[in-house]
Amino acid sequence: MDWCVSMPKVELHAHLNGSIRDSTLLELARVLGEKGVIVFSDVEHNILKNDRSLREVFRLFDLIHIITTDHMVVTRITKEVIEDFAKENVVYLELRTTPKKNDSIGMTKRSYMEAVMEGLRAVSAVDVAFPAHNVDAGSPTTNVPVNDARSGTTRKKIYVRLLLSIDRRESTAAAMETVKLALEMKDSGVVGIDLSGNPVVGEWITFLPAFKFAREQGLYITLHCGEVPNQKEIQAMLDFMPQRIGHACCFEEDDWEKLKSSNIPVEICLTSNVVTASVSSLDVHHFVDLYNAKHPLILCTDDAGVFSTSLSREYSLAAAAFGLGKGEMFQLAKNAIAFIFEDDGVKQDLTSIFDSAANMLE
Ligand code: 5GP
Repeated sequence: MDWCVSMPKVELHAHLNGSIRDSTLLELARVLGEKGVIVFSDVEHNILKNDRSLREVFRLFDLIHIITTDHMVVTRITKEVIEDFAKENVVYLELRTTPKKNDSIGMTKRSYMEAVMEGLRAVSAVDVAFPAHNVDAGSPTTNVPVNDARSGTTRKKIYVRLLLSIDRRESTAAAMETVKLALEMKDSGVVGIDLSGNPVVGEWITFLPAFKFAREQGLYITLHCGEVPNQKEIQAMLDFMPQRIGHACCFEEDDWEKLKSSNIPVEICLTSNVVTASVSSLDVHHFVDLYNAKHPLILCTDDAGVFSTSLSREYSLAAAAFGLGKGEMFQLAKNAIAFIFEDDGVKQDLTSIFDSAANMLE
């Protein structure tokens, strides 16, 4: 596990509200329990439980959202999640979150995202490389620390980019609102749009206009695809040719064929898939087939908090379950650079980071 922690890694599938530390969630839940908003003991049991079906996962998210949908809390969890990833040597993070609206506390999708941005600026343990609008040049520049930390060479640096998620419960209009917000925030590090939320709710066709618009406007797209059997939807999503998909658990023969010929990279979330029983065990996980076929794939956490995991642990699990050595795992981590939603400048910088860490293989 040690070398899985110390090697540089790229995280491309992490949901903000799924990645919260248990200790933070419990602390926040206790406060709401004292105010009588929730029953703390029920919540505590739910948070600390290890096994959860996909249905239970979404019930837990509803509970988490009651606890966290507050501007200051959103700022705090964003800061902590970034610091946690940086601590285990994630050097590039695409963090996704669903912008939320809550009239009762004056929260709009925009103010929610501003609270996320505040969290980025609040990170103090590491330098956060993030696009900052260059007023003089009138254009965004990358690789600028947004927090006020000193960017000394001895300090760790993590690139952070944001993906805005559309929840499958949302309407076409709400999905469009999220895409428009992403466009307004493009200079602030929002690079793409994700479709997530309970896979048995909603239909792809509802969100298609928003994703078409996002693509026309130059945003990158990743879709949760095939978490439950739904061949019609899987085929339609693959036909849309997103830049990446997440999961791909319930694919049929035709779906694998289409996926492989399209070469769409897959974000693989081992622990999440097994805990939610989307895949019965690691031995039969589609990682093996895709890896052997040299299909582009990226190991990711999905929800490090909800599934009690970390990216290092996912690498360690894959190495043990699939008999892969240090060199192969290092290469797998490095390969992810090709699939980030960023330009060649950032890719080159990440490549140098991996190259200078390659001596750990000796
Ligand atoms: P948030 O967007 O609130 O920051 O993160 C939690 C949300 O991400 C959940 O409410 C859900 O919409 C989405 N999410 C997290 N994990 C999963 C997953 O494994 N599958 C799907 N389809 N959605 C997920």
